[in-house]
Amino acid sequence: MEEILDSFLSSPPAGTPSEVIEAFGRLVKTQDGVLPPSVFLEAVEQSPIAISITDPNADILYVNHAFEKLTGYTEDELIGRNQSLLSYKVTPSEVYNDLWSTLAQQRSWNGVLVNRRKDGGRYLADLTVAPVQGGDGETCYFLALHRDVTGVHDLERRLRNQKVLVESVVDAAPVVIALLDSDGKVLLDNHAYKKLLGDMRGKEPADRFLEELCDVIEEDRKRSNSKRTGFVNREVELAFEHGLTSRWFSCSGVWVNKTYPGADFYFSGDKDCGLLLVANEITHQKKQQEQIKMNAMRALMAEQQLGRAMRETLSGAIYQCQAPLNTASAVVAVMERRGDGEVNPAVTALSEIIQSGEAVLSCLQEALPAESIEANFPINLNEVIKDVIDVSIQRLLGESVIVAWEPEKDIPKVIGRNYALRSLFKQLLDNAVDALNEPECRYREIAITTRALDGEVEVVIRDTGPGIAQDKRLSVFEPFYSAWQNSKFRPGMGLTIALEIVRQHGGEIFIDPHYHGGCAIHVCLPANLNHKALSDEVP
Ligand code: FAD
Repeated sequence: MEEILDSFLSSPPAGTPSEVIEAFGRLVKTQDGVLPPSVFLEAVEQSPIAISITDPNADILYVNHAFEKLTGYTEDELIGRNQSLLSYKVTPSEVYNDLWSTLAQQRSWNGVLVNRRKDGGRYLADLTVAPVQGGDGETCYFLALHRDVTGVHDLERRLRNQKVLVESVVDAAPVVIALLDSDGKVLLDNHAYKKLLGDMRGKEPADRFLEELCDVIEEDRKRSNSKRTGFVNREVELAFEHGLTSRWFSCSGVWVNKTYPGADFYFSGDKDCGLLLVANEITHQKKQQEQIKMNAMRALMAEQQLGRAMRETLSGAIYQCQAPLNTASAVVAVMERRGDGEVNPAVTALSEIIQSGEAVLSCLQEALPAESIEANFPINLNEVIKDVIDVSIQRLLGESVIVAWEPEKDIPKVIGRNYALRSLFKQLLDNAVDALNEPECRYREIAITTRALDGEVEVVIRDTGPGIAQDKRLSVFEPFYSAWQNSKFRPGMGLTIALEIVRQHGGEIFIDPHYHGGCAIHVCLPANLNHKALSDEVP
């Protein structure tokens, strides 16, 4: 068969029409011989896609079975009619204009039209029209393929509606929501997230959240996708620059499986695990909690300070009363030795005074408030001092005092009593503020620093007040010593109590002899370098 065809085409008989030669030249040769032309017709006829062939005016010349089935018209009803027979007359004229102008340029056109079946039912037709050129290069036919895409379109529209709905709900949610890919890139976010982005002046909030949550996320990432648990209500503090304070968020994360796009992953089902991050701002609640904690701490510190001051004051008073009583007792003893057994009215009077003095002293001793028992804990002095500054903030602001707080990072902890240490530094800070209220004071600044020294943690509180003269640097620690000019009614027990607390913690407190810009008080407490808990006993 193949040889016959080849010999016919190599020397066609004289007078054979050129269309016949062309038609035989187009026959497809396969391994098994030549494919009969009827195969092509049957392939088109049995195709599940509606196929039609029209003349250049879109008048129908041929339709296949699928076309009849889809439109409801028979072949007889269609041949010779224009394709516009299918138009439901709602497709915009611009679409038809585009179709015809594309075809006029001999290019294929694809688009969606609204068609009507014979029974009046409408469907969306996804239509592709391709021009077929004759030997002269002119378009002599159009080949049209179309299929009903109403179902697909409905599905797309439902999906779109659902997406819009989900997006509006997510957008309206008063929490920050962001979907992050495995590299931490934001794939989807909501209005609250965008607002936070603005508040952070363009710095990606997701980066900060991931930084703060890295421990829990990394832990989860080690597990396989199906075993990841996510996390719930992890508190994160975002520090804002440009003078704005920190903001707090309660963060939860859920791992979301996301199929990779693209043909390569159509069947493989490989998935990427994205993280849906939900952050609820709790700054207000946090501030309220802070406020409650501060108020409680303030009240407790005031109570402890009062108790300690009363105890120290009474002890000082007892000590001071004891001295004249001791002198009187000595005088009575001398007088009794010198007397020759006769009753001496002066000795009697003095003895009565001594007796009633001792009764008073024992009353005072009984009135001494008991020292509250506080356990020893490892304590970070930076936290203690920060709390003390926070507790004193109203006074500092009210009296226009600037505090330069320069803690050294990662100082070792000290073993101590939480509230006793707070009272100590509160006392020293109060003293520094009092010093700024003294007459010679020109600047109103207090600098507080912490640093780790050899086996110790040192806290230095410097003020710009009048300072303490060289000869007074020891007496200021004695009971009832007070030289304030503007705080005259202080009992002068503050530094005595401070010294007592420092001693109880095995540390030392002294006034820096080399500082001349005011007063600099150094407190050095033993560092808990080996984390060995000290005994609860007072040293
Ligand atoms: P018409 O008066 O027919 O035409 C409207 C506009 O179309 C005119 O203003 C003009 O810009 C352009 N136009 C029409 N005929 C020609 C032309 N011969 N040459 C250049 N521009 C022209 N339409 C459907 O609604 N559903 C179909 O399934 C469909 N299938 C088609 C298949 C093929 C192969 C082709 C070529 C066209 C098909 N059309 C189909 C388009 C159809 O022929 C009509 O143009 C369309 O239906 C609009 O018909 P009408 O009567 O509303 O307006």
